[in-house]
Amino acid sequence: MADFNTHFFTATTVGAVYATVTTKGLNLDPEPALLLAWMTAVGGILPDIDLKDSTPSRALFLVLGALVTILAILQHISRFSVVELLIMGAVLFLMVRFLLRALFHRFTVHRGSLHSLAASVMFGTVAVVICNRVWVISADISWLAGFGVFIGCLSHLVLDEIYSVDFSGARIKRSFGTAMKVIDRKRWVGSLAVVITAIAALQLTPSAQPLLKTLQTVDPNWQDWLLAVDIF
Ligand SMILES: [Zn+2]
Repeated sequence: MADFNTHFFTATTVGAVYATVTTKGLNLDPEPALLLAWMTAVGGILPDIDLKDSTPSRALFLVLGALVTILAILQHISRFSVVELLIMGAVLFLMVRFLLRALFHRFTVHRGSLHSLAASVMFGTVAVVICNRVWVISADISWLAGFGVFIGCLSHLVLDEIYSVDFSGARIKRSFGTAMKVIDRKRWVGSLAVVITAIAALQLTPSAQPLLKTLQTVDPNWQDWLLAVDIF
């Protein structure tokens, strides 16, 4: 399998191309391009978050812990004193960073349910909900960001599959076929949780109709804006 740096580098490159093509093709403001690129890069490391003691896992629970803590402090800022807020924040952060992370790794297997196409769809739809409902980003950009997460995940699965072919000896390693699966058929409970989460997230997503309409307005002469070089 590919390592963290290779995954992150590949997904960042995919993200940069995706953000540039979308911004240019849909005539978007330049600001959301950075979000699209970053979401794609994050998508590129998500399938490995179930790898114990890995950078993706540490980073995910660190960010999650910080987010939960900040939201809780903001919510209770007028009710509690500074000392109470700091104690509550510290307890919450430690619970998410260590307890929740330990529980997560207790119930997940690396290259299990989260290393599949179904999980990529789940990560994408959850990202749309987070962008739209938590960060209050417009429906169109949220959907584009969710799609970025999806293609980031996809780049991860494809890369792992490519790495399972030993090109020098032209033979296929035993891990071939384990990285890119539609759904993990060996672990039905995990796979069911993935499908249920994706369906639940889909209920919370904003309408994709406006974006689909915008997509229809893309200049049909795409070769012009995609390929034409006009430096003179
Ligand atoms: Zn992987």
